[in-house]
Amino acid sequence: MGTINNKQLPIIERFNDNNIKIFALGGLDEIGKNMYVVECDQELIIIDAGIMFPGDNYGIDYIIPDYTYLMDNVDKIIGLFITHGHEDHIGGIPYLLRKVSIPKIYASGIAVGLIKNKLSEFSNLSPNIIEYHNDSVFKFQNFEISFFKTNHSIPDSSGIAIKTNQGYILHTGDFKFDFTPLSGHTEYAKLTKYATEGVLCLLSDSTNAQVKKFTTSEKKIGDSIKAIFKQIKGRIIISTFASNVHRVQQIVEASVEQNRKVIVFGRSMAKVVNFSLKYNYITAPPGTFITAKEFPHLPPEKITILSTGSQGEPLAALSRIADGSHKQIKIIPGDTIVFSSSPIPGNQEYINRTINKLFKAGANVIVNSPLTDTHTSGHASETELKIMLSLTKPKHFMPIHGEYAMLKRHAQLAIATGVDPQNIHILDNGEVLTFAPNKVFTHYAVKAGAIYVDSNNEDVDNSIIRERKLMSDDGMLGIVFSTLNYKLMRLPNVVSRGFIYVRDSEALVTDIENKAKELYENYYSETKKFNPNQFYNLLLPTLADFIYEKTERKPMIVPIIMNV
Ligand SMILES: [Zn+2]
Ligand SMILES: [Zn+2]
Repeated sequence: MGTINNKQLPIIERFNDNNIKIFALGGLDEIGKNMYVVECDQELIIIDAGIMFPGDNYGIDYIIPDYTYLMDNVDKIIGLFITHGHEDHIGGIPYLLRKVSIPKIYASGIAVGLIKNKLSEFSNLSPNIIEYHNDSVFKFQNFEISFFKTNHSIPDSSGIAIKTNQGYILHTGDFKFDFTPLSGHTEYAKLTKYATEGVLCLLSDSTNAQVKKFTTSEKKIGDSIKAIFKQIKGRIIISTFASNVHRVQQIVEASVEQNRKVIVFGRSMAKVVNFSLKYNYITAPPGTFITAKEFPHLPPEKITILSTGSQGEPLAALSRIADGSHKQIKIIPGDTIVFSSSPIPGNQEYINRTINKLFKAGANVIVNSPLTDTHTSGHASETELKIMLSLTKPKHFMPIHGEYAMLKRHAQLAIATGVDPQNIHILDNGEVLTFAPNKVFTHYAVKAGAIYVDSNNEDVDNSIIRERKLMSDDGMLGIVFSTLNYKLMRLPNVVSRGFIYVRDSEALVTDIENKAKELYENYYSETKKFNPNQFYNLLLPTLADFIYEKTERKPMIVPIIMNV
């Protein structure tokens, strides 16, 4: 027994009992880094291994859960079960695998491809991935695991049903009820079957618990997009979340209907589209997709540009199009930009900036609203959550996947559908819900917390994050000048910490490197000798302005002279 957590619960490093225990290592009182654990006796199941994207950057790129408990109990781990392929559910897998040996990863459909894709960017990680299907069943000593298909904003999403000697534990994954789905219906019959056999505890997605009524069907959004496309005469630039494969399919269909060719801008979008075409998640008549080279020859009314940057990310394709720095396309009057997305909290300011620039450049901009219906959520609203509760009739209820207010609201909905208020469990990450034969309690916790990861995939210490918060909001940019007798030998080399992903921003990096080279050579050809202070005084303000102009960010710039 170690220390205590926020709620003054003792922290347990290892359990030696055969009670059923459920807890989250991430995902409670937050949106992101989802990771839930179900344990009994000598067996432990992990559900999902997500990351969270930090709202403020401070030189970190991801937040992952603290895996200490899993490291201490690695011998009990049966496997990792993945509900679907979103980053807040699979993004942590590479980091988890580095720390914890996972015998098997169970995933379905597109998630399998996305996980393999992700792992291919890391060396020495080749886990045993088992592809499960709707009717797969995996039997263990204490658990029998099966799946129920759901609808969500990425194909092949599932809930997980864990049969125990006290009844089913159901984990919904992320879901909505879409009665006109693009790829198959939710398996409603399974939900009522679980209820008949007895559901001990339901863990359900709380993201939209505060949203009234029903989440709009994806099909309806497709219809709206088609109607909008019909009226637009010039070029269409449409931006959505790259992983929303159904949406991309509908955008492609709307384009084909209007005899438009589709061109893809943005690395992550291109990756998803290629992948989805290969595995038939996206289908289109041959010749629908064209390259950047081909599109200048087409008239505006024949062009749809599918782009990343729906969140106004400064370096994504759409932002670069908006500020005129995109190499392949400039805004022309008559262009229409459609946001098939909604702002993730915290991004509104970036998005507004992008929209203003687009208007200034002479484009028309359409954003999602009740009038335009260019976007819908992948998460169940109030009525759907009540339907889930009514179909599964759980004895106990644990709202998951949401900030505290969402969990709290979801708990109220559960009580309204008839769950005993005593049996509602709004937990913290790490807090353990224990089902003993005759009682249910939350007397213990396991170690849970946040680990910060930077763009080099290294863990970053909490104290460093605090320092970075004080130091800078915009990360750090190092520039290495390799010189021989102070004559520049090659192009200066940019290294970034938390400012940009160098991999994703080759053009920007090259621009900065060229600018640095120009400044160095101008300085050295004038002075013929090298004085570091003099050079830095010249370099830093000029380069800072240059970077700000391109990114509207002010990273700390650290020049390094390597003279031989
Ligand atoms: Zn999701
Ligand atoms: Zn999620």
